[in-house]
Amino acid sequence: MDSIDALQQALLSGKTTTRQLVDQYLQKIVNNLDANAYVEVYEEEVLEMASILDERIKNKEALGPLFGIVFSIKDNLCYKGHQSTAGSKILDGFTSPYSSTLVTRLLEADALIIGRTNCDEFCMGSTNETSIYGPVKNAIDRERVSGGSSGGAAVAVALETCHIAIGSDTGGSIRQPAAFNGIYGYKPSYGTIPRWGLIAYGSSLDTIGLLGKNVKDFPLIMSVLSGPDGRDSTAYSPAIQFNQPAHSIKTLKIAYSEELCAHPDMDKAHQSHMAHYISTLKKKGHTVTPVDIPLSLSELFVPTYYVLATAEASSNLSRYDGIRYGHRTNEEVEDYREMMMLSRSEGFGEEVKKRIMLGTYVLSEGFYDAYYKKAQQVRRLIQQNLETILADNDLFLLPTTTSDPWKIGQKPENPLMHYLADIYTVLANLTGFPAISMPSNTTASSRIPVSVQFVSGKGTDDNLLDMVLKV
Ligand code: GLN
Repeated sequence: MDSIDALQQALLSGKTTTRQLVDQYLQKIVNNLDANAYVEVYEEEVLEMASILDERIKNKEALGPLFGIVFSIKDNLCYKGHQSTAGSKILDGFTSPYSSTLVTRLLEADALIIGRTNCDEFCMGSTNETSIYGPVKNAIDRERVSGGSSGGAAVAVALETCHIAIGSDTGGSIRQPAAFNGIYGYKPSYGTIPRWGLIAYGSSLDTIGLLGKNVKDFPLIMSVLSGPDGRDSTAYSPAIQFNQPAHSIKTLKIAYSEELCAHPDMDKAHQSHMAHYISTLKKKGHTVTPVDIPLSLSELFVPTYYVLATAEASSNLSRYDGIRYGHRTNEEVEDYREMMMLSRSEGFGEEVKKRIMLGTYVLSEGFYDAYYKKAQQVRRLIQQNLETILADNDLFLLPTTTSDPWKIGQKPENPLMHYLADIYTVLANLTGFPAISMPSNTTASSRIPVSVQFVSGKGTDDNLLDMVLKV
């Protein structure tokens, strides 16, 4: 796939037009409808935007930094006058009266938005099977899941139906589907792209980020999308500067944990892939050092994440009551309580209900100290541990997933299995540090590339995006 720079050169020189680019993407969407990556395509609108932009290019008018670049947005981002449902029946028919900061910044930079992509309901899941619109199929092997929750976003990019997909990552939802479809998935430092207009799941973890095929495009896009926002008090401040990486050195100091790279929950092919990858890094001249993350701490990554994420979700989702917006029951009801109860029971899917109950439980009076408060304390310990590691190293290397993507509909033997498979991704959300998943090579048994993941210190995103080009 061409880089943004190459595409824009082609547009300026008249070698192609925005209209032609958009036509190609739309054709690919039609050719791949079976993948179910999009919930809605803004066909007429995007064609019109393309024609207007072509006129401006012809007239040599001033253009924004992302002119002519086609994006998709995940179905949990608000876009004025457009629907967003977070893959849930409870938001069916909700049309947003305002645009998220992200959408506003994209449009101001003359980017085009082609449609909204499928995702797990309220972004709760790892397979995109909890979406009201049905599962997304893997771009490389249609019998397998796309991963989740940004499954539609990953498949949209992998099938080249847009240049970049915007996703969100609360515990791995950009990086894991990116890995399952052989593309790059980048979760910035917490707060880098403001969350205003993002439908909330776990607010202290939710991070907007990018999925793409060309990592060299990311700094330019981030320079447009990042930066403080008066409507998001958690936006990262001062703004992270992109496109000015401090690193000129070619060899890096990379840390990894032997226990995590050969974890018993990881399948054998992926374990040996990790060992092979580490030896390749060493051969390239990087200093690769095993560091100590006590197993007793790493075994707490997933439980800590699920206690905090479900607690925050139960609070965030309390606003869906059938009154202000979204689904309201059609049943005859006695009073507003019954109306709310029925609307929520009908509107939310099974996984969401499970998590609301779990979150309400860990926040309840008798259990708050034992679960929620404890999880906050463990989160702090995990942060300190990673901070210490990254004080002496440029990057922390991890796998992204424990296995290849599962078959669609395959119910795990152990219902916790999908949760446990988040072990490598939740670390970056619990700490707020930036992380990127990138394809390395394929195992003997699969056509799907195995990905690796790099994490760097908080706010060092620019260096991270530069360093991954050197590994
Ligand atoms: N799989 C994780 C979950 O189900 C992560 C989801 C996400 O990042 N939104 O919560």
